[in-house]
Amino acid sequence: MIDPVVAQLQALVRIPTVSHRDPDLVDVAVFDEFVAELERQFPLLHERLELTRVDTHGLLFHWAGRSAERPVVLMAHLDVVPVEEDAPWQHPPFGAEIHDGAIWGRGTLDDKGELVAICAAVEALLDADFRPAQDVWLSFGCNEEVSGSSAVLAVEELRRRGVAPWFVVDEGGAIAAEAFPGVAAPVGVVGVTEKGITSLELRVDGRGGHASTPARNGPTVRLAKAIARLDRSPMSASVPDPTVELFRRMAPHAPRALRPLMANAGRLRPVLTRALVAAGPETAAMARTTFAVTTLSGSPALNVIASTARAGVNIRIMIGDTVAGVLEHVRRTIDDEQVQVTVVEANEPSPISPYDPLHDDGAFALIESTITEIFPDAIATPYVMMAATDSRFFTEICSRVYRFAPFRMTKAQRESIHSYDEHLGVDALIDGVRWYRRLIERIPA
Ligand SMILES: [Zn+2]
Repeated sequence: MIDPVVAQLQALVRIPTVSHRDPDLVDVAVFDEFVAELERQFPLLHERLELTRVDTHGLLFHWAGRSAERPVVLMAHLDVVPVEEDAPWQHPPFGAEIHDGAIWGRGTLDDKGELVAICAAVEALLDADFRPAQDVWLSFGCNEEVSGSSAVLAVEELRRRGVAPWFVVDEGGAIAAEAFPGVAAPVGVVGVTEKGITSLELRVDGRGGHASTPARNGPTVRLAKAIARLDRSPMSASVPDPTVELFRRMAPHAPRALRPLMANAGRLRPVLTRALVAAGPETAAMARTTFAVTTLSGSPALNVIASTARAGVNIRIMIGDTVAGVLEHVRRTIDDEQVQVTVVEANEPSPISPYDPLHDDGAFALIESTITEIFPDAIATPYVMMAATDSRFFTEICSRVYRFAPFRMTKAQRESIHSYDEHLGVDALIDGVRWYRRLIERIPA
């Protein structure tokens, strides 16, 4: 017999809840349908938990526990990124077909799998008349992929009601196979912080004019020089504490030659930093703030000199660096007063949630031991997330924010997120439901 959770996920993946930066482009009817289908699939949850609607389709459920002293928040989001026109999906992206023991479709991993696993765990516990030791809140955002404004409003609502969460679990990490070369065991990575996203615009104005009589050092040339200087001068690198801990925990499972470096990552931080920077762009991003020049514009015509040249720079700020420090670095490196630097968006890196026994009051330990119980072969460890999640807004009301999806994922699956061929194993989904269920059952009084 197929577990009913499979059909529940299929029904919800088939509703294409694509979010857009421009609210006018959102298909409201599709989101209405999703919210109605969620209620059809999880009737007990909707009957017994108190629902507050936030934003257009954000959902905030309150499950009263035996105590309201140390509430727990479980998060997910119901929107997905669009499917690119000619992306080579093997199976229809909104078909939710089952092939090779997996459910295929946009959102299976990001983030309807988590949403359905949380709801299925709660539904099963309600059916067994279970009451959690502490209040449990479910916060499901409707625009995580574009702005996260519904998560901001959920935080406001919780604050208004005086709810100070003990800890928060949102998407992010996973039970990752093939996570590190030479490490055979899957790694259960729990994000304890995330890099900050900041965007700048560089702009140079000039006279413009006819392309037959160019002056030297015009706007496009000045802009190009500024970009080249930024590319040549990265900010200083260093390995943050959670990454040291990640290497320390993986060390016993790593190839023998790498073990001493990994086990002593704290003491050998400078060596490890150089190794990460040298090993390629992915590992370098683990050690420093990154700058990517993404958009460029000059004159609209081939025979016209640009009167304005612009470049957009997307920056991911490393733990330890700040928006102010990054701006200072950019201005100093470009060293040209005619290049105007404007901040488009500014987000600091998130504070680090506790994970070591000295600072953890049991929240991380609870997540960690639940990982070990359901995934006994996995190495549970903290890590720094490179991408952003809705949970960053919850750091304002909670100092223990953890980013972890309890699903086994191969490297190919992780790469399919926001890309094509996204799919979640049926067994992985069922394990995920078990993980959330055990987490809720094990919340201490
Ligand atoms: Zn997501």
